[in-house]
Amino acid sequence: MNIIDSKRIWLSSPHMGGTEQNFVKEAFDTNWVAPLGPNVNGFEKDIETYLERDVHVAALSSGTASLHLGLQLLGVSKGDEVLCQSMTFAASANPIVYLGAKPIFIDSERNTWNICPEQLEIAIKDRIAKGNKPKAIIAVHLYGMPYDVEAVHKVASEYKIPVLEDSAEAFGSSYHGVKCGTFGDLAILSFNGNKIITTSGGGALVSKSEYHKEKAIYLATQARDNAPHYQHTEVGYNYRMSNIIAGIGRGQMEVLDKHVNYRRNNFEFYKKNLSGSSDIKFLEEPNGFYSNRWLSCIETSSYELREGIRLALADENIESRPLWKPMHRQPVFADCDAYLNGISDDLFDRGLCLPSGSNLEEEDLYRVVSVIKNILR
Ligand SMILES: *Cc1c(COP(=O)(O)O)cnc(C)c1O
Repeated sequence: MNIIDSKRIWLSSPHMGGTEQNFVKEAFDTNWVAPLGPNVNGFEKDIETYLERDVHVAALSSGTASLHLGLQLLGVSKGDEVLCQSMTFAASANPIVYLGAKPIFIDSERNTWNICPEQLEIAIKDRIAKGNKPKAIIAVHLYGMPYDVEAVHKVASEYKIPVLEDSAEAFGSSYHGVKCGTFGDLAILSFNGNKIITTSGGGALVSKSEYHKEKAIYLATQARDNAPHYQHTEVGYNYRMSNIIAGIGRGQMEVLDKHVNYRRNNFEFYKKNLSGSSDIKFLEEPNGFYSNRWLSCIETSSYELREGIRLALADENIESRPLWKPMHRQPVFADCDAYLNGISDDLFDRGLCLPSGSNLEEEDLYRVVSVIKNILR
């Protein structure tokens, strides 16, 4: 096929449900064009209801901002060490550096591709022996697959280290029937343009106490003291979500579960059509794990095959991408310690994310599959 004739197939593109503009229009009609208003409160309520647990949600400007405030609320400050899953998007780790703290990276395990509980414990023991007990753990539900919640939190509570749960990719996923975003001492969500629901940009901090929510909102709105004039005793940020953006979020909440189903169907389609080959493997859900399959990923039998598939898809105007390059291999984090078992390196070499949007048509999926089958032949 000629690249000019074929429609571009994206990895994960925004998918509006249809009612978003009503909420945005209402914001205009009532002149709530500010980083507060009924849509912000409504969006927070919608998320709290969806998560089905006694949680408090603060809507913020991004997932990254939510991680930044989350770490600060957990008491992370200059000179502290924070343990962070190595295979993830850089936004999981960058906020550690914003606070003058040091990331220490932990490798993945095979069952979920997420933080390895064994390496986590090895790291904690070693850091304590070196005289610097880690201040927090950042665990990530990569591509929507929950991390091993029970094993990770067992280690964390044994050493009394709080967990910041990065659920940016896992809104709609669950673990033994409990929604992701409710497990950590604090958790974050992202509504960036490529996520399962999007507000164009945005995020949220999920906490178990009203106090943490109020404190997050206070810090996110320039840390104003209660006074008629502007008075500040702490350094604040401009991290609150706007009422326009939250309107998009309210509309998107109406279609979140639909998006989960579409994405899970993408994964099943790929699996059905490609798992005949012994050169392609899929990450199955362990018992009790429910992934939103934010991105459908394959594990190929070699780096060469992965690259062959990626380049063939690109030739057909189809976007695909290697798995996240682990943070311990990023130039920006070259001087950070890491506890490694080789798994994230291996996954990075052989893994590929396929087009996964909830708005893909069946013919798009067929196009992807036929390119890959051609390479396998
Ligand atoms: C997208 C993402 C973030 C950052 O969220 P933004 O809203 O883009 O700032 C953090 N962690 C992970 C794992 C992500 O995928």
